[in-house]
Amino acid sequence: MPALALDQLEKRYGGHAAASSVSLSVRDGEFVSLLGPSGCGKTTVLRMVAGLIEPTSGRILIDGRDVTALPTNRRQIGLVFQSYALFPHMNVFENVAFGLRRQGVQGADLEQRVTEVLASVRLGGYAQRMPRQLSGGQQQRVAVARSIAPRPSILLFDEPLSNLDASLRDEMQIELKRLQRELGITTLFVTHDQREAMSMSDRVCVLAHGVVQQFATPEEIYHRPATGFVASFIGRPNRLSGRLVRAPGRPPGVRVGDGLHLPSVAGGELADGTAVDVVVRQEDLRFVGSGDASAFEGRIVLRSFVGADVQYVVAVGGTELIAETPTNGPHAGFEVGAPVRMAVDPQHVYVNAAGAM
Ligand code: ATP
Repeated sequence: MPALALDQLEKRYGGHAAASSVSLSVRDGEFVSLLGPSGCGKTTVLRMVAGLIEPTSGRILIDGRDVTALPTNRRQIGLVFQSYALFPHMNVFENVAFGLRRQGVQGADLEQRVTEVLASVRLGGYAQRMPRQLSGGQQQRVAVARSIAPRPSILLFDEPLSNLDASLRDEMQIELKRLQRELGITTLFVTHDQREAMSMSDRVCVLAHGVVQQFATPEEIYHRPATGFVASFIGRPNRLSGRLVRAPGRPPGVRVGDGLHLPSVAGGELADGTAVDVVVRQEDLRFVGSGDASAFEGRIVLRSFVGADVQYVVAVGGTELIAETPTNGPHAGFEVGAPVRMAVDPQHVYVNAAGAM
């Protein structure tokens, strides 16, 4: 039995569907992210699971129990928001104890449970501090401790790390993932950050316009995007427009402007000459020597050092492509103006009829 099942969940505001036929099945102990651009409906879905928004139709089941009509406090969920929402007048101990007291836990039992939970988020020595005496990362850990203390069936996170600076955010991602694995609590995590979603999750649900585009492992989402939207949202894409080449005797692909032919076997159902949108990821473009027959020629326009990678803007005919290559690799030293040969594997060129992405 799935720990969490969403069955044809729908939320309409007037004529606008914020979430449309969302069906998901989350396994016990699984970490699932809802990922998508602003306005795609991820918060709406999470809030329906939390009981904070009433669905227009569809069902929510937690451990097989239909909770669609139950209030938040009877769903056995833990909630962590972007704003930590700690009680400012209570110290750390009391913040974490709050939900436990409501469950009737008290005395030595309460003391032990709070101490254990604070230790699990590495805040053992902080029980007597007030929230204002803590850093943002520490406050967020208290918020996590408070949500896990009552031992919920499911943890719901709504962009919990987006207020933190980049390095603290990386640290908290690892910490949260480790804690979630240790506790084995089924988790639904909302984020608009693809790297965060992929690094933390067992599976990622990509949403666009309130509709599930793909629900799969990070590897599948990255390597086998199910829709043009997923291809253009995940990774670092070059988004281009072109015409499909499907004429006999010519290698299948896409003609972009004049001078760029990208090999591609995708879009097989479309006719020769069809206007298409094309996605090629920066990291899938390779610099090659003279041997590769499908390679195309370009010229370096701009070079940027970005740490682990070097990013080039390359002019190919009238089209500019962005390509990335590892700083410690053989192609990191091209100067602006240098002629280069580039190639891409046909399966890494994602094609959709124009306007469909
Ligand atoms: P963000 O990352 O910006 O929070 P999101 O993916 O979480 O975006 P939602 O907040 O779920 O998006 O909103 C989905 C859509 O529903 C948006 O188009 C939004 O404008 C709309 N929407 C959300 N709440 C309401 C409301 N109370 N009334 C009308 N429309 C709403």
